[in-house]
Amino acid sequence: MIEFQHVSKAYTNDIYALRDVSFSIGDGELVFLAGPSGAGKSTVLKMIAGLEKPSSGMVMMNGQSISKLKSGSLPYLRRKLGLILQGQGLLLDRSVLANVMLPMIVVGESMADAETRAYAALERLNIQDKADASPLSLSGGEQQRVAIARAIVNRPQIILADEPTAFLDRENAVIVINALKAFQRSGVTCIISSHDEQFLEQANRVIYLSKGEVTDSWTSAVIPSVS
Ligand code: ADP
Ligand code: ADP
Repeated sequence: MIEFQHVSKAYTNDIYALRDVSFSIGDGELVFLAGPSGAGKSTVLKMIAGLEKPSSGMVMMNGQSISKLKSGSLPYLRRKLGLILQGQGLLLDRSVLANVMLPMIVVGESMADAETRAYAALERLNIQDKADASPLSLSGGEQQRVAIARAIVNRPQIILADEPTAFLDRENAVIVINALKAFQRSGVTCIISSHDEQFLEQANRVIYLSKGEVTDSWTSAVIPSVS
């Protein structure tokens, strides 16, 4: 359970990126953070990841305040998270498979386990045939799928994806959204920011931000499928 309690954020003195934002997200929900560019969507995701702190208010995860975590506890929080942030590219000096293995190596898994799981993660995104390729040889859509495989290889409880369909054509965007929905069906909480309104109908929950404030929020019972 993730809870924002009266969260405001000012990066500079008097310009608010978020203003008195409150909402909660239950385990296993698929939530779209919607709203135009500059609305504060990335800021919300960064706060959940502990990368930005609120100026006032609290961000809670499972009843614990994320902003009060000591820096030594942040790595444990991050292990629960699969982060797909903008501008976090793949490492170009190694193969696709090696990129996806990296998060597992960092937490001390064996090379053999890392390789097996990384390959399986690539299979989930249907990009396993590029395992040995250099990221440089992939299209934008393929790179994004590899980035998602890298984010999910450690089986996170929560996936945070910032504009995962930006710059993708419709076909690749549908692959990415369907992959995220498949994770949600297997119990993972997915929080996806998007200014792309065509995907809003895919969510069971939409939180709409405008100029740093929540202006709308709705929940639907049925999650339709994309084609
Ligand atoms: P979105 O993801 O909806 O485009 P952001 O959360 O990135 O919105 O940005 C919200 C507001 O905060 C914008 O006005 C943006 O310029 C500002 N902002 C974001 N990050 C920073 C930063 N590191 N320093 C100063 N201002 C920032
Ligand atoms: P798509 O958006 O359908 O993935 P692209 O036309 O960008 O389309 O790529 C088609 C195929 O060509 C992909 O499998 C990709 O890996 C490969 N490809 C794209 N750019 C290069 C490149 N510079 N060198 C080698 N292969 C490439």
